[in-house]
Amino acid sequence: MTQLSGGFAALGLHPNILAAVIATGYEEPSAIQLQSIPVILDGHDMIGQAQTGTGKTAAFALPILSRIDPAKREPQALILAPTRELALQVATAFETYAKQMPGVNVVAVYGGAPMGPQLKAIRNGAQIVVATPGRLVDHLRRDEKVLSTVQHLVLDEADEMLKLGFMDDLEVIFKAMPETRQSVLFSATLPHSIRAIAEKHLRNPKHVKIETKTQTVTAIEQAHLLVHADQKHSAVLRLLEVEEFDALIAFVRTKQATLDLAAALEAKGYKAAALNGDIAQNQRERVIDSLKDGRLDIVVATDVAARGLDVPRITHVMNVDMPYDPESYVHRIGRTGRAGRTGRALLLVTPRERRMLQVIERVTGQKVAEVRLPDAAAVLTARIKKLTSSLAPLVADAEATHGDLLDRLTADIGCSPRALAAALLRKATNGQALTLAEVEREQPLVPNSAPRERSERSGERSERGDVRERRAPMPLADGRARCRTALGARDGIAAKNLLGAILNEGGLAREAIGRIQVRDSFSLVELPEDGLERLLTKLKDTRVAGKQLKLRRYRED
Ligand code: ADP
Ligand code: MG
Repeated sequence: MTQLSGGFAALGLHPNILAAVIATGYEEPSAIQLQSIPVILDGHDMIGQAQTGTGKTAAFALPILSRIDPAKREPQALILAPTRELALQVATAFETYAKQMPGVNVVAVYGGAPMGPQLKAIRNGAQIVVATPGRLVDHLRRDEKVLSTVQHLVLDEADEMLKLGFMDDLEVIFKAMPETRQSVLFSATLPHSIRAIAEKHLRNPKHVKIETKTQTVTAIEQAHLLVHADQKHSAVLRLLEVEEFDALIAFVRTKQATLDLAAALEAKGYKAAALNGDIAQNQRERVIDSLKDGRLDIVVATDVAARGLDVPRITHVMNVDMPYDPESYVHRIGRTGRAGRTGRALLLVTPRERRMLQVIERVTGQKVAEVRLPDAAAVLTARIKKLTSSLAPLVADAEATHGDLLDRLTADIGCSPRALAAALLRKATNGQALTLAEVEREQPLVPNSAPRERSERSGERSERGDVRERRAPMPLADGRARCRTALGARDGIAAKNLLGAILNEGGLAREAIGRIQVRDSFSLVELPEDGLERLLTKLKDTRVAGKQLKLRRYRED
């Protein structure tokens, strides 16, 4: 629908950049994009204040790409980011948005990789340099002229940069650029130190602040769960097994994501469809009608496509991708809890989106409780419950219509009614896993959530010299301690072995044990802080898979 790309089209971006954005599947600019893009396109200095996940990268990348001259093969824009991981993310975003701009080159400059190729890429005519401050200063020491042609500077996540101690480096970098450059600063918070930088190095900056108004949500039960970005589909599938929903709307960020998730759901037998801005109006109405009358149970939508959607059957809203701001969160979850009914809203949160969750909680004045992914036992219980309720109504008159047939078949086959009923069940359930062992095998995730312990910001805070691949563990729930054992997958350990051993030997209740994460050469288990020393003593001689468990308290730093 052209009307939907209209939001971006009206901003004055270079046509090739606009084309790339539309190809990316963005339907509408986020608030920070809407407000920043015209300011940056006009060449103003700017201070942008907005939370994580609000789309800041495109807010500066799109106007800057629109303003550079691809014919000039020299650094024209410098983006500073606090960590290697963020620098790479920003560089990748620039590449995506510049796809239809031939001749634009992007180089990422960060510690822990050899300097030679980075310098070469700069000298070979990269117009966009995305760098961490520490490494950039190293380059400046070798060649003080590298930044002499930069016309646009962006400090991304300025508050984080200062927290990481890059103040002095920033001063060095500022001095190495022409004073006539445009400077833009993005930050989630504006502490005094940031204001001081702005005062000193920005010229009459315009302020763009995405205000977060207080919103109220009632009659909606909210919960969130932590997952890694690449586990969202499996998390959704598992949640759907245990959530008792009538109709559900799942929100994602892009058109492609609506198609992908809808396809994954259909493959599992759900009556699901995608709703996005590419879908023609009449088709869109058909989808909504189908959701209303039960021909569909799940719609996977972008914010824009779901606007105004009012279907009383919706009992659940699942925020598969984070909304950009608390307002759209409130909007989204307002799709349920209609007409005085209670609705349920689930929010999937990846590690770096935790701050956005806090903002949502603050703005709505409500706590969004953390829940864990249902484990195999819960999935099994839900499956059996569904099976029971689908069969129960048939029992009443089935004997009258099929009882004689049953007698005949058992006689012909020469089997017991139990054997025959079991065969019919197997057939009716289409090979669905209906024993604990089978469900466990089929579940791709470790019991009780446990998103893979892989940081989306690995290497963080270790920019200078030692680039340890830090794996940021998931946050601990209150009252829990993380313990480690040197036994891992390579010792033939699975989460359930650890769970079994700790339950049996430790005498704990199942609920007392939190996430269990089995990695190749070690495992992490969350246990109650209260009484931990005693528990560890109790487990001192416990063996799992023939090896000593030797569980110890684990400290991250
Ligand atoms: P921030 O820097 O504010 O934390 P990002 O720029 O990293 O946020 O954007 C977060 C996510 O949102 C990215 O995956 C990005 O591709 C996506 N995104 C950004 N703008 C839009 C938009 N207008 N429509 C859809 N997705 C968007
Ligand atoms: Mg960002």
